[in-house]
Amino acid sequence: MTTGFFWDERCFWHSGGNYALTLPVGGLVQPLAAGGLPESPETKRRLKNLMDVTGLSGDLKLCSADPATPDQLARVHPRDFLREFKEMSDQGGGDLGLRTPFGQGGFEIAALSAGLAQAAVRAVLRGDMQNAYALSRPPGHHCLPDWPNGFCLLANIAIAIETARAEGLCQRVAVIDWDVHHGNGTEAIFYDRDDVLTISLHQEHNYPLDTGDMADRGQGKGLGYNMNIPLPPGCGHTAYLDAMARIVLPELDKYAPDLIVIACGFDAAAFDPLARMMATADTFRQMTRQVMRAAEKLCDGKLVMVHEGGYSEAYVPFCGHGVLEELSGSAKSAADPMAETLRKRQPNARFDAFLRGEIDEMVRFFASAPEKG
Ligand code: ZN
Repeated sequence: MTTGFFWDERCFWHSGGNYALTLPVGGLVQPLAAGGLPESPETKRRLKNLMDVTGLSGDLKLCSADPATPDQLARVHPRDFLREFKEMSDQGGGDLGLRTPFGQGGFEIAALSAGLAQAAVRAVLRGDMQNAYALSRPPGHHCLPDWPNGFCLLANIAIAIETARAEGLCQRVAVIDWDVHHGNGTEAIFYDRDDVLTISLHQEHNYPLDTGDMADRGQGKGLGYNMNIPLPPGCGHTAYLDAMARIVLPELDKYAPDLIVIACGFDAAAFDPLARMMATADTFRQMTRQVMRAAEKLCDGKLVMVHEGGYSEAYVPFCGHGVLEELSGSAKSAADPMAETLRKRQPNARFDAFLRGEIDEMVRFFASAPEKG
């Protein structure tokens, strides 16, 4: 069956203001020649372009989608916040959170970004497609109900899940967030609920600086249904696959979801300017295989990936291409030009043994975790 690829050129037109890395320009911070936040359209546009060049796009069902409606957004975000966001967007843009600026029309673009995720989830749950990838931009996993942050303006995945639930398409959803930053928004939105399992693998104390602790397991009915896997800087291919195999996949088996959603960031890749991990395109490809196998076993293969971060314009396209090759089974490949270099740069055996010990600790911690609420 088909793999859907949901994208829209307008998502690439979201403008993020004038920053250098995450620093507003001015004073001693010189504007970059290219301008704008590291959350630039180029990482995403270049992924789509690479897929066009190799022919992979031709093996997918390419779609756009309607923007999420105000009523759909309001299942996650307070109406006052949405009103303020829309007004500021109509008046030329601004910033309603932490260094997460938007320009004229930013509200409509963010609603479209959420709409892509929503349509992907709906299509897979209805059985119109086997699985799907939403090239959403702006991203969503950091956004709190009334506070945009970390370049995320609306909580795309949470909105998509709430719409699917309201339409009676699913009961239990597992969200695995392998963006290198903590999925603090998704965690917060579902923290007291047992109908959405949230798991975040992230570089410890990267962004946000003070969230994503292992001890944060959810509360009330949601106790035990939030899982944070904070990994030390320098984790590479082996540590990521190990954490997935030994912590994430067993938890998925226990939870038995109707749908698996991946918050798919590529900023754990070795060339990312906003993190310090050593994952490769093959790491993302192998993790995709892992979650596809889990989805086949648990929920008829129902799997949706929603694009989050990833800031290496040169490397993200190869990571994304590998993921989409796996999802679709397409033979249109784009060999990773950095594979050999990154293989040699992976953590040495001593550091990998240390990381395995860290993951052993986490396995023990979660085995002794509190009874679920
Ligand atoms: Zn990120």
